[in-house]
Amino acid sequence: MTGTNDGLVDDKREKAVMEKVPRELLIGGRWQPAADGAEYAVEDPSVAEPLCTVPDAGPDDAQAALRAAVEAQQGWAATPPRERGEILYRAYQEIMRRQDELALLMTLEMGKPVAESKGEIAYAAEFFRWFSEEAVRIDGGWQTAPDGNGRIWTMRQPVGPTLLITPWNFPMAMGTRKIGPAVAAGCTMIVKPAHQTPLSMLALGAIMQQAGLPDGVLNILTTTRPGEVCEPLLRGGSIRKVSFTGSTAVGRKLLEQSADQVLRTSMELGGNAPFVVCQDADMDKAVAGAVLAKMRNIGEACTAANRMYVHSSLAQEFTGRLAEKLAAMPVGRGTEPGVQVGPLIDAAGRKKVTSLVEEAVAVGARAVVGGEPLSDRPGYFYPPTVLAEVPADCRILREEIFGPVAPIVTFDTDDEAIRLANDTEFGLVSYVFTENLRRAMQYAESLETGMLGLNKGIVSTPAAPFGGVKHSGLGREGGRLGIDEFLETKYVAVDMSTTRPLKGPSLEAESL
Ligand code: NAP
Repeated sequence: MTGTNDGLVDDKREKAVMEKVPRELLIGGRWQPAADGAEYAVEDPSVAEPLCTVPDAGPDDAQAALRAAVEAQQGWAATPPRERGEILYRAYQEIMRRQDELALLMTLEMGKPVAESKGEIAYAAEFFRWFSEEAVRIDGGWQTAPDGNGRIWTMRQPVGPTLLITPWNFPMAMGTRKIGPAVAAGCTMIVKPAHQTPLSMLALGAIMQQAGLPDGVLNILTTTRPGEVCEPLLRGGSIRKVSFTGSTAVGRKLLEQSADQVLRTSMELGGNAPFVVCQDADMDKAVAGAVLAKMRNIGEACTAANRMYVHSSLAQEFTGRLAEKLAAMPVGRGTEPGVQVGPLIDAAGRKKVTSLVEEAVAVGARAVVGGEPLSDRPGYFYPPTVLAEVPADCRILREEIFGPVAPIVTFDTDDEAIRLANDTEFGLVSYVFTENLRRAMQYAESLETGMLGLNKGIVSTPAAPFGGVKHSGLGREGGRLGIDEFLETKYVAVDMSTTRPLKGPSLEAESL
């Protein structure tokens, strides 16, 4: 939730944007249909109607993409880092030049309001700018061994061909967060976007080509058969790394499949973020932070505040003010002016949110606003909802809601809040609101989390290492660490001991 839509998007513009997207697989630099001609329909979640069709890739297409990635690897690794960086920079510029059009495309396939899609496009492009700068900073090391005779020389080299699998909730940024460092490091790749949102990735593929990315470096497979397409790639022996963003359940499966070939893995998995409002919190900041942490991306974010723990002395005021803010957020099609809350991604997503809320209400929670799906229109709409007096053992506090629902639980002591916050298998992000430095440090050190928003409802930035602990994942994306995920370190042991003095005619002639 990063703003409001400012203008009408008419049918003509939607049509023009749709017509510009290549609706084919990208393999070895060629746009092509699936080998068996299969296609599937992409749906607009705001009207529950098909938008267009794209190829439904199968195992043969995956093998063709693999051949292209393997063939391109050596030449790509040898391409000067500056050249790799400049391709990323040109792509960054082109994405920003086409920000409006790409935002509309994203809204059509994913549902979020156009203003938010614009925010994601800028965020996505920033990963390319960041990694265009990192491409030329891949370093190594040279050090004298402790015995004085040896030298320790380290160099960093690309991991090799990679498989990148992305979710639907951030259709472009979850792609650029992986493609950016892979390109910068000199890795070739096969990208498999989520079946619900292939169009943003296909548009990105065309932009990368335009920016000068050589054929075969980036291959894109759209499919509804992710297991059939990805498993043989992981077990085959030519792919050297998988980078995945998605649910913990699928991440676990991919880790198992990666074990055969001992692949490098990066796993950005699910979250269950606690949002803690301490007794000394600045109420204005806490409410504003809660709106952002809860409502960004219609609550369909791994970073979404999933459990609000509020000190009992503030609970009534916080609940009232949050409910007032959420109730005032206009719900509708993401292309309509003023809309701040779009539809959920699909029928299954809405069903899950509905059942979590129903179950919570059945065991004693109270819906202060919202609480029931909107059935007065087509599409998968669910209204902003605040639940008070949620029992601490409720399922809604244990599972990712992935919708605009804020369950509130009260606490009395910091120890209790920390215990509740850590009582989950997840550990992606946490939020804490306090004006007390000592308390802030205590939470920062005690929370089992990969990231912490301190008096801040949003943590994502390409310049920071994004990632989780526990079942929320392995590795970090973005920041200085992001490129490491795509590099191997090679160490060369150098013998510098000598029995003869280093002198002679040629050596002397060369010296100054
Ligand atoms: P998902 O169901 O796990 O799907 C993610 C991706 O994995 C999709 O491309 C999906 O393809 C693919 N996939 C599914 N089964 C597969 C298999 N057997 N082999 C290979 N690929 C497979 O997750 P989602 O519903 O798209 O996204 C929501 C989840 O992503 C949430 O749990 C959220 O927390 C997490 N997420 C995490 C981060 C992070 O950075 N930590 C960021 C964003 C989202 P299909 O579309 O064809 O099923």
